[in-house]
Amino acid sequence: MKKVQLLTRRRALLAGAAAVGAAGTAGVLTTGPGDEPALPAAPVGGPPARRAHRPSAYRLKPLTGYGSPRAVPVRPPVRREPLLRVSGRGRTMVLTFDDGPDPRYTPDILDTLAEYEVRAMFFVCGEMADAHRELLARMADEGHVVGNHTWSHPLLTRLTRRRIRWEMESTSDVIEEAYGERPLWFRAPYGAWNRAAFQLGAELGMEPLAWTVDTLDWTTPGARTIVDRVEDGAAPGVVVLCHDAGGDRSQSVTALRRYLPRLLDSGYHLTVPRRQYT
Ligand SMILES: [Zn+2]
Repeated sequence: MKKVQLLTRRRALLAGAAAVGAAGTAGVLTTGPGDEPALPAAPVGGPPARRAHRPSAYRLKPLTGYGSPRAVPVRPPVRREPLLRVSGRGRTMVLTFDDGPDPRYTPDILDTLAEYEVRAMFFVCGEMADAHRELLARMADEGHVVGNHTWSHPLLTRLTRRRIRWEMESTSDVIEEAYGERPLWFRAPYGAWNRAAFQLGAELGMEPLAWTVDTLDWTTPGARTIVDRVEDGAAPGVVVLCHDAGGDRSQSVTALRRYLPRLLDSGYHLTVPRRQYT
């Protein structure tokens, strides 16, 4: 019964999302149609969003694995540049948190997002996700979108194609197991993209999403500076880059508590992007 309620809540959250498409420099993508969520989330009869405590049972019955046609996202085009912003109605922005999940900071960020009923994107690293699967299950329960940020956060431009594939594929696998769906979005560590990353990302059903505003929070410039960077960069369609792992992220946690209510007061709708190819 609880699982049904969780799924219902998740569907309600997704259905309530603004129609937001990802818009790249090429301007290929446009606003999604109507109010139907374009993300193939929580299929009827699909697995429960929360299953972190039963990973082995899930492995035996891969309802959304490669064996199920509805689970394989339609392959997006191979891009030459990552998407940098989203297009949508009104003052829409997307918050993204990279490198986690980290049990020291991610729960606090999730608490703040929940307090304001805001959904965000988490570009997780496979090795972190594997160690903290319960946090991916929570992200699923609370309607957040999880993207692929490679397994070990390497500089992809220095890796072989075979190694890049492993970094991406193994991360998508652990996300599927812990979150419930394979990721539809990919972000290269350090924003260092190359042709292999674009090709393999598309092959694995993912769109490359970069960012518009970099808070540089990983340099620990102080919560106030992070807040200023978000507020100075705020504009319709902006994708904000923050981090919930990779070092001491307490400034990022504090900053979110300050800028999130202010953005909402300014009329911004903080949401997650929807894919056009599903
Ligand atoms: Zn990163």
